Amino acid sequence: MAEAIPGLAVHTITTKPWPVERCIDEYAAAGVSGITLWRRDFERLPAAAVGRRVREAGLECCGLARGGFFPAVEAAGRRAAVEDNLRAIDEAAACGAPVLVLVCGAVPGQPLAESRKQIAEGISECVGHARAAGVKLAIEPLHPMYAGDRSAVVTMGQANDLCDVLGSPAEVGIAVDVYHTWWDAALEVEIARAGEAGRLFSYHVCDWRLPTEDLLNDRGLMGEGCIDLAGIRGMMERAGFTGPSEVEIFSDRRWAQVQEVWLEEVVAAWVRHCG
Ligand code: ZN
Repeated sequence: MAEAIPGLAVHTITTKPWPVERCIDEYAAAGVSGITLWRRDFERLPAAAVGRRVREAGLECCGLARGGFFPAVEAAGRRAAVEDNLRAIDEAAACGAPVLVLVCGAVPGQPLAESRKQIAEGISECVGHARAAGVKLAIEPLHPMYAGDRSAVVTMGQANDLCDVLGSPAEVGIAVDVYHTWWDAALEVEIARAGEAGRLFSYHVCDWRLPTEDLLNDRGLMGEGCIDLAGIRGMMERAGFTGPSEVEIFSDRRWAQVQEVWLEEVVAAWVRHCG
């Protein structure tokens, strides 16, 4: 067993070929101190059982990914999305995740402003349930290349505005993912604004590869791309964030590797670039 490295957390999607039990055991053995679960982890084991295994392994559960996808053309679709998010909140509570990460959604062809209005309505319908469950909701602004179908919220500024529109409930905040936000000239100002409002809930790290060969599944390992990881972590800390740097890497290349070796590379890169 390696000694746990404070602040080092890994999303289970990073080692997608492994079932969640294997992720838990391998992460703990590799010195990872926190784990972010994905809802797919509950396909075979219920959320409460997964959460128990996480605690037994001595890992901290940092969050659950992901809820969201609120916009829909038809009201029935929007209602179904809210209901699915209420279930996701229950799963977060059951596994002991303090935060549910929201990928807010977008409908191809629907104006983004309309989608943002539907996102605000959808989140506001979940706030009471989240409060009762003791789960926070973290809006994750996505890179603008996903505006067509995955998120009408594409900047930290829009995420902050959305929190303001909702009346800044204590349960609603932001997940800052460097992959989505590193290019933004307003990043430092908007991270500071979020910190001021007490809404910096999560921080996700990876890198931006050049060239990026796939818009979804070609994220880089920290250090193999062009993101200023130390700079952005500094912005987060100056804004008062003390939480972990959670590694979240979707990569067909890496998932094709021997996962034990891949996890060793993740830990080494984290120590070098995020520690
Ligand atoms: Zn993320």
